[in-house]
Order: sequence, then C-alpha cells, then structure tokens
Amino acid sequence: MTTSTTLTLSQLLVELAQNSIKSDGKNINDSYNIFYTTATKNTVSEFSTIPNSTRLLNHEDPFNYIKSHLANDKLNTIFTNELTILKALPHLLDSSFQGKPIVINIDLDLQDYSVIPSLKDLPFSIFISNDSNEIIENSKLIQEITINSLIPILHFINYKKINQLQKHIPFNENDFQQFDSIPNEPETFDFQSEPANKFFNLFVPNDSENKPSTLLINLSPYHEEFKQNLPSNDVALLSFKIYRPWNLSKLLSIIPSSIRKFAIIQGAAIDTTSNTTTSTPTSTFQPLLLDFFSDFNLLVEKSIDQLIVTNVGILTKDFKDTLEIIVNNVKKQNPIQSLFLGKSNDLITEIDSTILSSSSSLSNVQNLENAYLKVLRQLFNSNLNILNEYSSETVQANNPEFGFGNFLQNETVHSKLLSLAKKSLDPSLYNSTKANEIVQLLSKWIGFHDKKINLNESKLLEANEIAHQLFDLLQSNQDSQTALNFLQIAPTIDQFLFKSNWLIGSDAWSYDLGHSGIHQVLASQKNINVLLIDSEPYDVRKSSPRSKKDVGLYAMNFNDVYVASVAVYSSYTQLLTAIIEASQFNGPSIVLAYLPYHSENDTPIEILKETKNGVESGYWPLYRYNPSKEDIENEDVFKLDSSVIRNELQKFLDRENKLTLLAEKDAQFARDLKNSETDIITQKQERRAKAAFDELLEGLSGPPLHIYYASDGGNGTNLAKRLANRAAARGLKATALSMDDIILEDLPGEENVIFITSTAGQGEFPQDGKAFWDNIKSSTDLDLNSLNVAVFGLGDSMYWPRKEDKHYFNKPAKDLYKRLELLTANPIAPIGLGDDQDADGYQTAYEPFENAIWEFFGVDNVAVEDEPKPWTNEDMKINSDFLRGTIVESIADPTTGNIHPYDAQLTKFHGCYMQDDRDIRDIRKAQGLEPLYSFMSRIRLPGGQLTPEQWLAMDKISSTVGNGTMKVTTRATFQLHGIIKQNMKHAIRAMNSVLLDTLAACGDVNRNVVVTALPANAKVHTQVAKMGANISEYFLPKTTAYHEIWLEGLDDRDDDKSWPETFANRKEGPRKKKTLVSGNALVDIEPIYGPTYLPRKFKVNIAVPPYNDVDVFSSDIGLIAILDEATHEVIGYNMYAGGGMGTTHNNKKTYPRTGSLLGFVKPEDVIPAIQSVMIIQRDSGDRKERKHARLKYTIDDMGNDVFREKVEEGMGKKFGPERPYEFKSNIDYFGWVKDETGLNHFTAFIENGRIVDTPDAPQKTGLRKVAELLQKNKSGQFRLTANQHVLISNIEDQHLDGVKAILKAYQLDNNSLSALRLGSSSCVGLPTCGLAMAESERYLPVLITQIEDILEEYGLRHDSVIMRMTGCANGCSRPWLAELALIGKAPHTYNLMLGGGYYGQRINKLYRASVKDDDILDILKPLFKRWALEREEGEHFGDFLIRVGIVNATTEGKYFHDDIKEDAY
Ligand code: SF4
Repeated sequence: MTTSTTLTLSQLLVELAQNSIKSDGKNINDSYNIFYTTATKNTVSEFSTIPNSTRLLNHEDPFNYIKSHLANDKLNTIFTNELTILKALPHLLDSSFQGKPIVINIDLDLQDYSVIPSLKDLPFSIFISNDSNEIIENSKLIQEITINSLIPILHFINYKKINQLQKHIPFNENDFQQFDSIPNEPETFDFQSEPANKFFNLFVPNDSENKPSTLLINLSPYHEEFKQNLPSNDVALLSFKIYRPWNLSKLLSIIPSSIRKFAIIQGAAIDTTSNTTTSTPTSTFQPLLLDFFSDFNLLVEKSIDQLIVTNVGILTKDFKDTLEIIVNNVKKQNPIQSLFLGKSNDLITEIDSTILSSSSSLSNVQNLENAYLKVLRQLFNSNLNILNEYSSETVQANNPEFGFGNFLQNETVHSKLLSLAKKSLDPSLYNSTKANEIVQLLSKWIGFHDKKINLNESKLLEANEIAHQLFDLLQSNQDSQTALNFLQIAPTIDQFLFKSNWLIGSDAWSYDLGHSGIHQVLASQKNINVLLIDSEPYDVRKSSPRSKKDVGLYAMNFNDVYVASVAVYSSYTQLLTAIIEASQFNGPSIVLAYLPYHSENDTPIEILKETKNGVESGYWPLYRYNPSKEDIENEDVFKLDSSVIRNELQKFLDRENKLTLLAEKDAQFARDLKNSETDIITQKQERRAKAAFDELLEGLSGPPLHIYYASDGGNGTNLAKRLANRAAARGLKATALSMDDIILEDLPGEENVIFITSTAGQGEFPQDGKAFWDNIKSSTDLDLNSLNVAVFGLGDSMYWPRKEDKHYFNKPAKDLYKRLELLTANPIAPIGLGDDQDADGYQTAYEPFENAIWEFFGVDNVAVEDEPKPWTNEDMKINSDFLRGTIVESIADPTTGNIHPYDAQLTKFHGCYMQDDRDIRDIRKAQGLEPLYSFMSRIRLPGGQLTPEQWLAMDKISSTVGNGTMKVTTRATFQLHGIIKQNMKHAIRAMNSVLLDTLAACGDVNRNVVVTALPANAKVHTQVAKMGANISEYFLPKTTAYHEIWLEGLDDRDDDKSWPETFANRKEGPRKKKTLVSGNALVDIEPIYGPTYLPRKFKVNIAVPPYNDVDVFSSDIGLIAILDEATHEVIGYNMYAGGGMGTTHNNKKTYPRTGSLLGFVKPEDVIPAIQSVMIIQRDSGDRKERKHARLKYTIDDMGNDVFREKVEEGMGKKFGPERPYEFKSNIDYFGWVKDETGLNHFTAFIENGRIVDTPDAPQKTGLRKVAELLQKNKSGQFRLTANQHVLISNIEDQHLDGVKAILKAYQLDNNSLSALRLGSSSCVGLPTCGLAMAESERYLPVLITQIEDILEEYGLRHDSVIMRMTGCANGCSRPWLAELALIGKAPHTYNLMLGGGYYGQRINKLYRASVKDDDILDILKPLFKRWALEREEGEHFGDFLIRVGIVNATTEGKYFHDDIKEDAY
C-alpha cells in the first residue's frame, strides 16, 4: 500500500483492523482477528476476501461463537449490524469481552439510531461516525484506546450515508499509528482530558449577537442536513461523536449559556407512536432521556426548562419544515411527547420491526407499568403468550394460579399432539401426494421439543414457521384419519405453536410466597416465565406493616430457576438482557422488575429518583442468576449488575453458597429454609423459639418478665440487659429483647413487660423502636387489659434547652406510656424518666423505678449476690494480651460483617474503626439485614509526608477495597472508608508494602504526630518533620500484635510476592519480635504505656510561627518551634500541654481547652519532656470516667503549676522561660511558593479533605496523574496538612510545567475560592461516623456557597474567616477554635458557636443553641453586616464579635460554659 491513497469505507476499516499492530516480521495474518456477520451464506461481503477472517450468520447467534474466540494478544475486529448487536446483548455483558482490544463496527443500515442508547449500559465505549471526517478522527482514537487501554469499543457507522457522501476516503498511512504489541498492563485512558470537540459536533449559527435558546441534540443521520436548514438563528445543533463514556457536564460546558430548551432528535426506523392513546409526560420513556435525567441537577443549574425527544424516520427533503415542527413543539408549554416525523423504513421486515421497536423506545405506553409489558410485546410479538390477564378487574384472572392453570392446560394439549406426532411418522398414514412433506415437517416440529435447543427469538420464528406449514398441510388433508386425529386434538394453529410464556404479576404476589402460585410455578421445572412488577416506592414499603419477601433469594434457592432483578429507569440494557435470557432459559424464570411510583402522574424524574434511591442504596440490587451457566467454564452463574453495591457481592455470594451447601446436606434444613419465607411459619418458628426459651426458664418459679429496649447508642440495651440479670437473680423469668422483636398481636398474651427506651434526635424513638412505635401507635384493636407494663426513658433535660423544646425530653418514653394507658394496660410502676442532668445521671430516677418493680413482684426483700461489674475499656485493654483480643477470630467469622464489641475497641489501636453506612441502615433493617459494616482505616503518617509510590498505593487501595475516595484528616493523614473486614488484612499489607502502617493512628496512645506544612522553608521543615517522626517512632506501641495479626505469613492477595520481606526488613514501624526477658522468655513489653496503655488518646502537634496551621493549642502537647533567625536552626520549642477538643453536649463537666504553657525546651529534651507528661497522665489520668480522662482534665484537676513541677521532676530538668513568637494565621498557604533551595511547592485546596472524582473536579485522578509524573521524574513528594489540604512538594523548575498542566486539567489549581471556603473544614460526619448526629462534610460546602452570597453583598469575599463544622460535639475538626462553628446536635440542627481566635488561640462560645439549618443564614447575615460596617482596621470576625459584645470571650477552657448570653437558648 502506498503512503497516501483513497479507500472505500470497508477497505479503510479492514486496513485498520489488519495493520494496527506491527507484525514483527511474523505473518501479518497472525496479528489480527476478524469476524463479520452476514444475513446468509450467499450474501456478498467485502470482508470475505480478508485472509483468516471468520464469517458468521446473523441469525445463528454469532456472538456466542465470537466470545470464545477472542484473542488477548491481537486486535479483534467485528463487523456486524444494529439488529445483530442488539440480539447479542446477553453475550456482550460477558467477561470475555472485557480487558481485550476489541472494536465492533456496527453498520447502522436501518438508520435506527435508537439502538445506540439501548446499549448504553454496556461496559463499552461508544463512538458514532456519520461522515468520512468523523470516521478518520474516531478510528484513530479508537485504535489508541482499545490497544493501549484494552477498552472494548462499539463503533456505530452509517455506511450508507458515508458511501453516499464520499465513495472513496482519502487515507494517509502516516496518519495512523502502528502499535508494537498489546500491552500486558493496560494504560488508563483518560476520557475526561479529551477536548469536547472529540465528543460532540457543535454548530451555532454564526452571528456574534446571536444567543440561541434551543439546542437540537441530534442522534440521527442528518447532522449536515439539519445544519443547512436550521429554522432560525435561535437554534443551535449538536451531534454525538463519543456517546460513552457519557459526559453531560462537558456537553453543558460548550453550549451557549443562552440555551434553555433541549430537543433530542433520534433516528428511528419505525413509527412506534401510531398506537399512542395518551401523551402525558410519563407516557414517554426513552433510554437517552435517562442520560440527561441522571444528572438532572446539572440541567437545573443551567436553567434548562424543557427536554423532549422526537423520533425521525427516513427524511428526504423538507428538513426545514421538520425542524420547525420540532422547534415549535419544544417551545410549547405542553409539548407533544411522542412525535414521529418522516417515514418508517420500508425495508424493514416484520421480524426486524419487532426487534427494533423494542430498542427504539418504550414510548407511548398507556400507564407506567405497561413499560415492561411493552418490552415483552415488542421483543416477542406474536410469539408472546401472556398467561394471565394482568389488568383484569377480576382477582381470579390476575393471580398466578390462574395463569399457571392456563399454561398446564395448553401443555396437556401440546403433549397429546407431540405423542401423536411421534406415532405418525409414517408417510403411508397420509392419503396425500405431500405425505413425505408432512412427515418431514412433523419430525422437524418434534425436533424443536428437544430441551437442548435454545428457543431464542430466531429459533421461535423458525419453529412457528414449520408449525404453520404443518398445520396448513394437515388441514388440506382431512381425508386422512391421521390428519383428522391431529385436528381433533388441536382444531386451531395455536396448539401447534411455540410460545414465550409469561405470567405477569405485581408485588402483591410477594407477600405470601409459600402459599401463592409463585411457589408452584418455581417448583414446576416448566418452561414458564414470570414478570413481577414492583411499583412500591421504598418509603411506602417502609411504613407498611406487612412484610414483603425477597422473591429473588427465594427463587434462587430452587437452584434451577432463572432469576433477574431489573429496573427500567436504572439500566435499560440490563433489562433487555434479562428478558432475552429469561425467555431462552429452559425452565422457570422470574424477572423482578422495579418501577416505583406514588401515582400515575409521577414525572419521569420522580420515578428516576425513586429508582435510583432503590438501586443505589442496595434496596433493589440489579442482578441476573442463570443456572444454565453452571457448567460453562469462565461463566458466572450469578452476575451483580449494580456497581454500587459491589462490597455486598461477596457477602451475598457467601450467603448463597452457604445456603446451597446446607440445603444439599440437610433436607430438613432445605425445607425449613423454603418454609421460613411465609409469614405464618416464620412467626410460628419465633413463637416456638420463645416457648422453648420459656421452657428453659421453667425451672424458675417466678413470674415471666419481658424487657424490651430501643437504643441507638447502646445505653438502653445495656440497662435492659442489666435489669434482666437482676430480675433473674430475684427469681423472675426475665428476657431482654429489642423492640424490633415484638410481635404486636402477641403482646396482649404476655403477662409483664417493661419498656426501656433512649431518646433520639428531636424526641424520636431510636431506630430499633421505630417500627414497633409506628405499629402500636396506629393499632386500633389492641386490648392490653391483662398486661402489666412499666416504661423507663433515658434522656437529657438540657439537650434541648429552649423552653419551647422542653417537651422533647424523654418524649418516646412519655408517648409510649400514654399509649399503653390508652390501650388499658396496667402500670407496674410510675413512668421513670432518667435525666443525664441529675446528680447521678439517669440512676437518680432509675433507682426508685427499679425498686417499684421489685415491690410489684414482691421480690424487693430478696437478697441477691453482687452483680459482676460490666467490662470497661480498661478491662478490655488489660485483658487484651497487648492489643490482640480475639481480633483474628472476629475477622474470620463469616456470619457477620461486624466484629466483637471488645475487638472493635482494640482495633482502634491498630488504626481501624468499625463503622456502618448510616444512610442505608433503615433500608437494610427493613430487609432484615444487619447494617452494612466496614472499617475506616487511618494511617500513621508523622508529618503528613508521602512519596509518589505511597500515594499511588493508597489510591489503589481506596479504589480496590475502599469506597473509592480518600479523606485527608485534621491530623494530616489519610483515612480510607468502606473496607469490609475480609479485606482489612490485604489493605494493611498493601500499605505496609510501601512502608506505611496504621498502628496507633487511633486508640489510647500517642496518635499521628502533626507537623506544620511550611512549604516556603525547607531547612526548618526538615528539622521539625524529623522531630515529628522521632516522636512518633519513640512512642509507638511495642506490642508485636500488629505485625502478628496483619502482616505475618503469605497471602494470596499480595500484589507482589516480596511483601513479606518488606515487612520483615522494615527498620521503623510496628515491632516484629518480642522482648527477651529473664528465663529466655519472649514477651511483649510496653515500657512506657504498660499493659493498660493511656487513659485516653494523646496528641502531639508541632507549629512554626507565624503559621499555626496545625492548631498547636488544640492538642495534648503543642510544640512551637523557636528559630535562630540567622541560621534557621531550630533552637528549641515552647511546649504547651493539655489542649483537647472533645466534649459531650450539655455535659458541663466536659469542655474544650487550649494547652497551658509549660515552658521552653531544647530539641534534645523534647522527647524526655513528652515522656514525663505521658507518664503522669498514664498514672494520674482518670481511668474510671472516660469523659474525664484526657490530659486537659488531669492538668486542671492538679493545677498547672503542680503539673509543671511534676513534669520537670520526671524529666530531671526545668523548663526555660517561654521564648517570644507571633502567630499570624492558622490557614494553609495556598498556591505555588518557592523555598530557599529553589524547589517549588503547591498547596491544592481539597474541600474538607475528601479526595474524590466528581464530574466537575476529577481531583482523585488528577492527583494520581501527578503522583505518576513525580514517580516518572524521580523527584517530588506530597504533604498532607492538618487543614485537610494537599501539598505537591519539592518540584524542580524543569518539571513545573508538567505538574501545572495536570493541576489545570483536573481542577486542582483553583485557588480563586472565597477566603471563607479556604478557611473552612469539617469532620467526616454522616454517613460513616457512628457518632454523627447531623451532616457535616456533605453539608458544609453547600452552606458556604449560601454564605458566600452574603459575603459578596457586604464586600467580604476576600476576608478570611475560620469556619468549621462537625457532626457531633467530639470536635474532630477542632470546631471550638473556629471563629464560626456549627456543631451537630440532631438531624438538621446545630449549636452555633462564635468568637474563636483567628490564629487558633481562643475557644469560641455558644451563641445560639439548637439552630435549624434553615435558620443559619438569617442569623449570620446581620452579624456579617455589622462586621463589614463596624470593624476596626484588620479586625478579625471572632475578635469583632467579642469587642461589640455579641458573645463573651472564653478565657480558659474550664470557663467555656460560663458567660453564655441568655438569648442563646
Ligand atoms: S466530630 Fe463527631 S461526627 Fe464528626 S467525625 Fe468526629 S466523632 Fe464523628
């Protein structure tokens, strides 16, 4: 071939398929793999001349062949058409199509572009080429992506159009790259960084004044024609070149800002609107619309107020008129939603139209649920047999038994026919010249009954064609008795036909599976399909007292049933795949279809949101379970299609495996398992269990007592269990159960019941009491006349200090007591209302309450032994064998995602917190599942410094076993969320492989040492960072438990087999060998901590004036570096002790505190001084009351002077007098700065420390790219800051441009943010932190945006204010030092704190208690206004508020609760 030539389109594509990969001297034919599909064997194809190409027939399931012949080491190119690709859907989801270089070129020969969005959920990139320029441009990119990144590509090509426009395409060989080979390790292709013109073809009429209001979004062949015929300058036009990955924000970023209306024009081969009877917004469903709706907020932001789809068939002229109709329609207030313009494609056969109309939309359905029926009708057309009348008004005709009965009746007739046919294969039986033909047809007809034959759509058509011919011949041979015998059994053609049999039902069938016909259908092993449409939105379901069954799980237990869970508004592709697979499965199938709506008038957006809610929360997982794949190698029987719940997958499969194994082993168990699905049986079993338990207690003579508790934090549970023990000790038959376990109907039959409930939020029941309360509140026929009851509540009378909120105090207990009274229950004792504010806390009210109970039962004088004391944290530590506990066993326990509560305390010392996703707690609870447990894992990172390799490892761990994000914490380290316990060991080993560990990142020990980021002064930073690292290493626990539990041994999941050596040879970090003591015993020794470690956590921060970016006064030890100004040597540190942020709402014994000055120490005395402080705290800290155990209370209790003397005594030296210093700020130094050695540092703003990819700011990818670049350059590193931002450090001048380019591309260089935002930070809060009472990380950015408008109004945008938010009073983001802080108290409710010092030098003060989030702006606005008008030169917001008397200053931590203005409450 010459360098430059012209080629036909097919030649061009073949050229690329053959020559993309260098043949390396080998036969060129070995470097590619080509398949093409044709209608028949005789169809002439230009691809037939390619050496080694494989021809396959469209109707013979070609992709089934292709998937097992794809090559890993060659470019695979497939040529096919839109109908064949659509039918191949189930195969395309197969893993064989992943991780290989594959280009599927699809001829849009029917001009039906609606096929394209039908495939949108496949894991393929999708390109569209309509003209020769696009084909050249797209092909280059496609080759690069698929060969380098192994991403499979669907390339839709309008051959006809391109050939019409240009028969020969200029081709320059040099324009196309030849690749060396297929890489083993694919590169990541970054679509995000591709310019918008690669994705879209935008045309805006050329007129500088022009501000078009309407955008035509074209997905049809007519871009050029439309461009020439736009009806006015008010209209712009956009066509797709890359459709997947979908990028709405990119699309919105390039269109004129004046656009308000979108009209999508979709090429469709046939008119599916002709049978339309309604045209409501809900009547039109289009997969393409979902793309826009899924990012609906972006449309709102862009003020797009109209979005409709118009289908166009064949257009030959009058383009202008067509466009005018479309534009006029989109501008109407109530546009027609189901327009079809142009002509249907005449070339389309009936069969084609059936298939195509299923893809071309589910438009024009008459009501919402019909969306699914429409798909069935369109997929199977005349071969569809709906066995029951789904919409019939008679219940009988609707139910599954009716439909199943129908099916069996048809089958009986059909089998009679089959039996007769088998006996009638002798031509002499037919008195006809066509006797041989009849026999031939009969044998073919019999052949289609072979179970091994997959009756897919084309086979069904073929079989029914035979059936028709046979029936016609039998009818025309009625003088033969055999023919008459056939016609007697089956007088019409119907009994000869093969059908796709479907029963259609609603979620009403899900309540009583064992008794409903569903069970019979599933157990029948017949080839029958069930489509169960569930339209109940989750909130309705939640409030329903009836319990719906998990039909999917139930069906899977049969082992031979195809099961799929689909949602049309979530994945249209998956829906089509499931229905095709269900129909092909030779046995019972059930497709559970989700379409949640409240009323038929719900808009598509509402349905979409409901669907999203269901699918993404895991309430409605999308999956397919296909037992026919069991024996096929490399095929998964179970496929989870919802990506969002991948963590659940393993658990689900584990459970499924276990169930199957058990069921196989134990027939009784299998029966119980199936039976347990019915309400009645479940309840019977529960009753039996209860009876058995009661029997167990029979030995005791006393009366029965059931204690039911509701408790979020565990206090109510503990109290109930304690009461049950005490009752048992007095001879009562006592049980303690959650209110969740109450069967309401059984309550009247019980004798004595005590309810114990905590108070949640604003006087609500805790989670585990909500359902019970909802039920008992609304029950009207419950008679508790013979029930004796008592109620005890746990609350805090000061939690809601305002008068009007007083009624929240113990509201659940009070409400329940009233309700029980109303239901005529008999009181055992007066209601007890525990109050945290009482002298002895809740005990004050509890003691008389309990005494009254003993009196009631006549056991008040019974002598009982002392109860064993409950285990405290101290007990756990001392009994843990140096932090081992039973962590290994807990992690290995497959029955739960949780670990033992004692181990959960111990894993904190290993840097791992057990948490659960609180967003979906309710949903999972309703499903009968335990919370979604996972670990938060925090690394120990003294000084916050990471190498590029370490960054990349953390990035990878977060993506592979975490929740995909990384959080920079306020202690300048990383924490990863969402690691399930089975992945913890792998995660920690992976961290250790790059010399990172998590030891002591949490727990009652010295935590991560925080060091100032100090980008501008390398020499000083090096000294303080070293000091930080030394402190961290010196005070690291010496137990070998960490190494033993997480690192020892070999592990299958190690990425690199040298990991164990990495652990063993690491000098620093977790200790590997125990200490040898006398008698040659090897033991763990904690020389500083001792076996009980410290009473509470211990933190060390190091600052270098004038930057207090670490909030040096907030930590147990604060070190302020003092420099020799001339040499920049650190000559020592001013040392502060006793800072601490944690408090408890309304517990005045707790308070935040800034550190107290101890004095000046030289560098070499720093560690001895800290050790002395630590030992005093170890020995004198409060080990009884954890809320009073921090060093700050020890110092205040002891007095600062006494404390200092003790420290000096311990270190054997006196502190020097404090050296002068000055702080000027506690925020980070954003942007670029050069240090004195010439290296460059950039501080990137990371909102609240959450490193994540969003469509607007793909920061996680950006930082990964930076890490890769630094790694490649072999220079540069990262630093994390205590304000939760990221420094890219030590960049040499020659690498600056490269780094800057990445920062720009990934929105990391945006430092034009408001000063308020730059000075803001928040803790994690919901949904992962178990202690959060309100939103923080997710809410602060939103609130700041609203406050920015106010600041703008008063000209304060560039005035720095320190603003912080937390989800509770524990103060993780140091809110008490902020000038303005919001501390979560209950959902949507915060305490507003004001007056903190700008440099972190002063604690703030309560300004307003319990502020609703809606009221925050109204409260702040006048304050900012006064500051703008009345402030003195340079006066900071916090200082101003104190000067003008809005709040009083907090002079010392212990006075935090004093001087609060009256109107604060
Ligand atoms: S401040 Fe409270 S809500 Fe926020 S992370 Fe800390 S403990 Fe959780």
